[in-house]
Amino acid sequence: MKIEIKLIPDGLDLPKEIQDGIPIDRMVDADGDDGSCPIATQDAQENEDSKRVAIKDFQYGPAMDLEQSCGNCAYYNISPAMQKCMDDDSGDIGYCQLLKFMCAASNSCSSFEPGGPITEVQ
Ligand code: SF4
Repeated sequence: MKIEIKLIPDGLDLPKEIQDGIPIDRMVDADGDDGSCPIATQDAQENEDSKRVAIKDFQYGPAMDLEQSCGNCAYYNISPAMQKCMDDDSGDIGYCQLLKFMCAASNSCSSFEPGGPITEVQ
């Protein structure tokens, strides 16, 4: 038996998200912080591994239509806390809450969802 815990943002297709098996973020400490940073923002290898999966399984790459790019995606997190984790406040890089890696605003993938970016977390 396998038990999996997930955070699924409002507005997503719940059965699909459960079936796809996207895990919750694994959090680590950053600069003596409180452990609120996703591991991919602190571990380059972890980020690279997730990026590879995004490329292979979700066609991550340059957006054909900027309206449907990471920068406008519901999973693209550029909240102040996340920008601190990523050490980048340009907005050009965001943390993908779905595929668990730092992606470029000008790229996109097959899981794009409108409604982003995430600019604050309650
Ligand atoms: S899910 Fe959204 S933020 Fe993540 S890689 Fe795809 S388009 Fe970019």
